Amino acid sequence: MRPNVLTVAGSDSGGGAGVQADLKTMLALGVHGMSVLTAVTAQNSLGVQGAWELPVEAVRAQYRSVVDDIGVQAVKTGMLASAELVEAVAELIGGTDAPAVVDPVGVSKHGDPLLAASALESVRKRLLPVATVATPNLDEVAQLTGVRVESEEQLPEAAAAVLAYGPRWVLIKGGHLAGDAVDLLTDGTEEHWLRAPRYDNRHTHGTGCTLASAIASQLAKGRSVPEAVRDAKEYVTGAIAAGFALGAGIGPVDHGW
Ligand code: PLP
Repeated sequence: MRPNVLTVAGSDSGGGAGVQADLKTMLALGVHGMSVLTAVTAQNSLGVQGAWELPVEAVRAQYRSVVDDIGVQAVKTGMLASAELVEAVAELIGGTDAPAVVDPVGVSKHGDPLLAASALESVRKRLLPVATVATPNLDEVAQLTGVRVESEEQLPEAAAAVLAYGPRWVLIKGGHLAGDAVDLLTDGTEEHWLRAPRYDNRHTHGTGCTLASAIASQLAKGRSVPEAVRDAKEYVTGAIAAGFALGAGIGPVDHGW
């Protein structure tokens, strides 16, 4: 049976990140992708020109429709825009058994805000505690915990600071550090260091969404968290290597590699 995977995230009109990247990843990994839209962005390779969040009732209704009839084997969350939406989504996810991959999206690569500053406390106190795996990058770690990572040696400290909020596992994405792309996955007991070569490719739009969706897809297929993350990292590394130019700015990672 093909597993069902749900993304709860924002739309990127340019098709590189957000729900569009999530569904492409799910298709490529052989699961059935479903989407609960939280926000709509007017977006292209140059940045985000506008963003509109959906009413909380619309998000709740989409979620209920999917879960009550079709069922989900894994959930992924991305752009949640406001404290109200973060709290509603945390409550919905907390009420299902499916593993949840939480990508605590804060700011886009172009510096456009995708989460209100007033929502950070809700992410810490409501969303992270219901995550099976949280996947912050270093900017998100700094925003959420105050820990500023400047070298690989500080990744365990960053991981501990995120785990203190209650996710079962955290994957700290060290991709913004110089050198190889090094990530640390830990549940506070096991440590898995994941390394990939750095590709000299500026077309990396949608990397974070793709990685989190790939993890959710592998979890839905019954893989353990370390296996799912390892497979997902391999997938996103291939997609980054194949990232291509689109528009005048930063192009998307490619799912057809
Ligand atoms: N737009 C939406 C709707 C997103 O969900 C995200 C990331 O989660 C982004 C843009 C940012 O993508 P990137 O930082 O890879 O450019």
